[in-house]
Amino acid sequence: MKVTDHIKNANGKTLFSFEIIPPKKGNSIQELYNNIDPLMEFRPPFIDVTTSREEYVYIDKGNGLLDRKITRMRPGTVGICAAIKHKYNVDTVPHVLCGGFTKEETEYVLVDCHYLGIDNVMALRGDAMSHQKYFEPIEGGHEYAKDLVAQIHDLNRGKYLHDVVEGNNKADFCIGVAGYPEKHLEAPSLQTDLKRLKEKVDAGAHYIVTQMFFDNNKYFEFVEAAKKMGITVPIIPGIKPLAVKRHLQLLPQVFRIDLPETLISEIEKCSTNQQVRQVGIEWAIQQSKELLAAGVPVLHYYSMGKSDNIREIAKELF
Ligand code: FAD
Repeated sequence: MKVTDHIKNANGKTLFSFEIIPPKKGNSIQELYNNIDPLMEFRPPFIDVTTSREEYVYIDKGNGLLDRKITRMRPGTVGICAAIKHKYNVDTVPHVLCGGFTKEETEYVLVDCHYLGIDNVMALRGDAMSHQKYFEPIEGGHEYAKDLVAQIHDLNRGKYLHDVVEGNNKADFCIGVAGYPEKHLEAPSLQTDLKRLKEKVDAGAHYIVTQMFFDNNKYFEFVEAAKKMGITVPIIPGIKPLAVKRHLQLLPQVFRIDLPETLISEIEKCSTNQQVRQVGIEWAIQQSKELLAAGVPVLHYYSMGKSDNIREIAKELF
């Protein structure tokens, strides 16, 4: 079922959902199940599965020299979506990226998703690889998420990339896109970024999931600004519980988000990561309670592969 239908059917009740990351290449899917199992009692109607960006890796050539190769360290997004859907009878949302894929390869991924009965996809550009300063599409790939949304929208109308197809079997994907309450790091201003977001919605996106934020006012202001821009689709807040002291530097650096002073001073008082984790959980609970009271459609948690803290938050709320 589509994410937007889950939201409609909930009749104003806030839903619980979360995002997981595929295991590293060579690891078992069981570790993923071990993290999903404890969250299933909160009845998520859908679970997102990320796609990892491509990375440079160094491979030992056996003669003491290293070879540099580009690879994706966490493959298997669509397979994991199908496995989870089957095992837990829950809808899954594969993240589909522009980065590293040609339009043709994207079409194959989408056709697989369609055949597997996956009804939702999250359309994203992806980040620059670690050695790059700016994102660059590969030859024959999309430059912006908006163009990927348009491709998925075309498939929903039975329009494939080339005219060689015989039929016009239509997909019917519900399309999610990313939104940034504190603006995307490359955008010159929040207003410009909102215009880009509106372009994604105009291209066919049905809902938005936000980047993590730690000050709810940022989300509320963003939703208001988006409405003024004419964006009427649901805007789902993304919540991440802070878990280790290093997040104080890492999260602002990687995601260009601000951390509230109160949260920073609470974390700075902690002498162990166990204490940091507890502060992170309590902060996320307070954030979630306020968002629940405001009637957000879904509370969507970034698990980053670990479910124990999400479980402690969900126990208080759902
Ligand atoms: P876009 O919407 O294409 O925007 C990228 C930048 O380009 C923005 O600054 C925008 O303002 C600008 N822009 C857009 N259109 C134009 C235009 N026509 N001209 C000039 N500038 C323009 N990354 C992963 O690798 N895997 C994942 O699974 C993943 N999941 C995510 C889930 C969520 C909910 C979020 C919020 C992010 C996720 N990301 C993921 C990270 C995401 O890929 C990065 O934030 C990426 O840098 C931007 O992706 P986007 O889809 O927002 O890009």
